[in-house]
Amino acid sequence: MKRYDVVVIGGGPGGYVAAIRCGQLGLATALVDEWLGADGKPALGGTCLNVGCIPSKALLDSSHHYHNLAHLLPAHGITVEGASMDVAAMLARKDKVVQTMNRGVAALLKKNKVNAYSGHGRLETDNRVSVARHGNGGEETLAAKNVVIASGSVPVSIPVAPVDGDRIVDNAGALAFQKVPARLGIIGAGVIGLELGSVWKRLGSEVIILEALDDFLAAADRQIAGDALKSLTKQGLDIRLGARVTGAKAGKKGVAVKYEDKAGPKALEVDRLVVAVGRRAYTEGLVGADVALAMDNGGRIQVDDVCRTSVDGVYAIGDAVKGPMLAHKASEEGVAVAEHIAGGAVHIDHRIVPWVIYTHPEIAWVGETEQQLKEAGSDYRAGSFPYRALGRAHGAGDVEGFVKVLADAKSDEILGVHIFGAQASELIAEAVTAMAFRSSSEDLARTIHAHPTLSEAVHEAALAVDGRALHI
Ligand code: FAD
Ligand code: NAD
Repeated sequence: MKRYDVVVIGGGPGGYVAAIRCGQLGLATALVDEWLGADGKPALGGTCLNVGCIPSKALLDSSHHYHNLAHLLPAHGITVEGASMDVAAMLARKDKVVQTMNRGVAALLKKNKVNAYSGHGRLETDNRVSVARHGNGGEETLAAKNVVIASGSVPVSIPVAPVDGDRIVDNAGALAFQKVPARLGIIGAGVIGLELGSVWKRLGSEVIILEALDDFLAAADRQIAGDALKSLTKQGLDIRLGARVTGAKAGKKGVAVKYEDKAGPKALEVDRLVVAVGRRAYTEGLVGADVALAMDNGGRIQVDDVCRTSVDGVYAIGDAVKGPMLAHKASEEGVAVAEHIAGGAVHIDHRIVPWVIYTHPEIAWVGETEQQLKEAGSDYRAGSFPYRALGRAHGAGDVEGFVKVLADAKSDEILGVHIFGAQASELIAEAVTAMAFRSSSEDLARTIHAHPTLSEAVHEAALAVDGRALHI
């Protein structure tokens, strides 16, 4: 039996990053992952790299370029006659991006002396991990002083719309339509619904999104959500709130969808239907019968503040545990558990996990929303600044959106930053850093920002907290 200091189960952004850090810290480390690519070969990187973050952003970029041909470039004096979209080429490019990154993860593991095993890992008693290799590859057991579970998540399925992988699909299917669906239905106006809805809308689909809740983007700041809803609707996304799907039947030509809203029962015909109603922790076949790994009531592995589970020496991280299902949160937990195993003192600051939704304009935030502060009775000050007052935004022809900074009324500590606008995904990093250092809005306001940049909106919003924005 091979013996390791650490065996990691799961090779997504939680697991592979944990393994790299363990390797850097000199721990003898193995990583077990079961994902196989379309070619049947091991494809490290988990959901994020194979059917999540990376391929979705590749398609968002491709479709954004295509959309700009007709909607942005003419204003720059550029006209392109006879532009067309080659969906097969777009998908092939996306697949190549994924494969390049798959190889990159494998190379990083090798560089850090992590042994990668391809197959299904199961936690047994005494922290042994059995690895069932794919096909008839047999089984092998690894002995570990510590085990890190990073088994990730899978899409939530709903009985009223069973995924068949053809007409009714989940995120993986929606990243691989061979042609642009004329009418695309999406169940769930969450992150996946909005990102993948944007992709296919930009390529010419009529997109109808059915959202059960009356609120749009319930977790986001209300002002940001309101502006985003207006903007996405103007772009042609048909977002129907308070719409509860009661049935979906796939036929040869399309899908017949039934739903109910305040006005009563409704029917809809679409070519394809995407089910994007959330994700759940993936723990199937993960634990041997004699292992008492405690789960919480959401079906996730129960962990403490340094990701220790109920079993001594066993940690769990990422989508399989509490907290937002985000790649960077999983990776941060991976680094923390590696350092904890190596004897270091760790602290995971879940307060400042940034959120980004890669629509156009992008939506990004960190910290508390204005409604959360109001509900908690916190005394705060808010400062906002619109993109339309930025020279750089005008130069780019991208003037929609604003930045909002929320700060404690007494101490001036920044409590939240909310951005709706171009490059919000990049701009939010400054806010996260500021909050990590527990900066005040005045710290941001007194920091020199390059001109002309979009980051000036963050600077001006911080100035606006004290009523002294300069360009509005
Ligand atoms: P995963 O990435 O799910 O990896 C788990 C791995 O473990 C998988 O390879 C799985 O096969 C393997 N595994 C599970 N059980 C076993 C077992 N018993 N034995 C062996 N292997 C096992 N997040 C962002 O932060 N930014 C984004 O832009 C973003 N975009 C997304 C877009 C889409 C369409 C989707 C679906 C998700 C997106 N996410 C995004 C979320 C992100 O993908 C997840 O938060 C992230 O992948 C979680 O990482 P993880 O390591 O916990 O799990
Ligand atoms: P989500 O939680 O973001 O959104 C699901 C939406 O579906 C919600 O608005 C919910 O109210 C709605 N819903 C639930 N049941 C429904 C039903 N029966 N009918 C109609 N609507 C229903 O989930 P998602 O979009 O599936 O994404 C899953 C997770 O993946 C996200 O929560 C996020 O953690 C991660 N993700 C992140 C990014 C990013 O960071 N940019 C991108 C994609 C996915």
